[in-house]
Amino acid sequence: MGPMYDLFPANLPSGIVHLKSILAKDTQDALARATKQVSKTAEFSHARTKSGGIYSAEMTNCGEFGWWSDSQGYRYTHIDPRSGQPWPKVPKSFTETLTMVLAGTDHSDFRPDACLINHYPDTAKMGLHQDKDEADFSQPIVTLSLGAAADFLIGGFKRSDKSIKLLVESGDALIMGGKSRMRFHGIRKIYPGTSPLPGLDGRLSLNFRKAT
Ligand code: MN
Repeated sequence: MGPMYDLFPANLPSGIVHLKSILAKDTQDALARATKQVSKTAEFSHARTKSGGIYSAEMTNCGEFGWWSDSQGYRYTHIDPRSGQPWPKVPKSFTETLTMVLAGTDHSDFRPDACLINHYPDTAKMGLHQDKDEADFSQPIVTLSLGAAADFLIGGFKRSDKSIKLLVESGDALIMGGKSRMRFHGIRKIYPGTSPLPGLDGRLSLNFRKAT
């Protein structure tokens, strides 16, 4: 039996798959709790760009590799540059949920080695950017959204290309793969106070990548 949702809504570019409300409420709660556990070892903080800018989202990672940015620039690391310790292991609930989400899609064999976790306070945004620090662009980027709703922007292949706005809400998954893997994307705004999860203010995004 195929998935119970429309994999290819007419208004999204090829390679973008938006699985609305694919995560049950108790799954969302479990993921938020597991994130809290990860952040006890590798706490959220505001990464900086090489030139000294500060991301308004707070970041941490789990997995074999983590994405980090500081005065040395951005890169994937095996060690959390802040603590000198390896990034925490990916919680079992993350892996199990990802497997469930990707079953029945073109990406059921996706085996990420990195999970970047962004926490967007109500006022945070993320400017249009491409994810291009990974070794193999045939591998997708898969994002699970928890907490507050957000306007996710999907652009073209140049920063100046027009973008479309996609509302992402707690329990949604978004796949950027195939022809859309290198599209510019970003977060235009968080909808304050819309998190349905007790104990979670703002938005969490769990970004699964294959770094190497
Ligand atoms: Mn990105």
